[in-house]
Amino acid sequence: MSIFTKIIEGEIPSEKLYEDDDILVIKDINPKAKTHLLIIPKKEIPTINDLEDDDRELLADMFFVAKRLAKELWIQEGYKLNFNVWEKGWQEVMHIHLHLLSDI
Ligand code: AMP
Repeated sequence: MSIFTKIIEGEIPSEKLYEDDDILVIKDINPKAKTHLLIIPKKEIPTINDLEDDDRELLADMFFVAKRLAKELWIQEGYKLNFNVWEKGWQEVMHIHLHLLSDI
């Protein structure tokens, strides 16, 4: 079980900003910008390389949640979205998550 699944299941505390049936958004514990959120699917997909065709809608939903939160947090004029992929691509937690960062 990934650390993010433990957070989703409430075994590890987190600062939640958004939750629906498929997605959880939390504040990154070690922020690398003024705002640093993690948009996490509840489905435990290890890396972007493991995506399947059925995950298309989920991925799209993650970006729409990012867009909505950027607007709600008044950072829509400048932010970065990124996925890290595998250790050589700076991924530490093997449960996909979209980073949302902004210094606004
Ligand atoms: P990545 O390197 O793309 O796998 O990003 C993993 C991110 O998860 C890092 O930015 C960590 O700071 C963050 N992180 C790890 N553990 C926790 C936690 N318990 N709560 C919130 N963020 C976490």
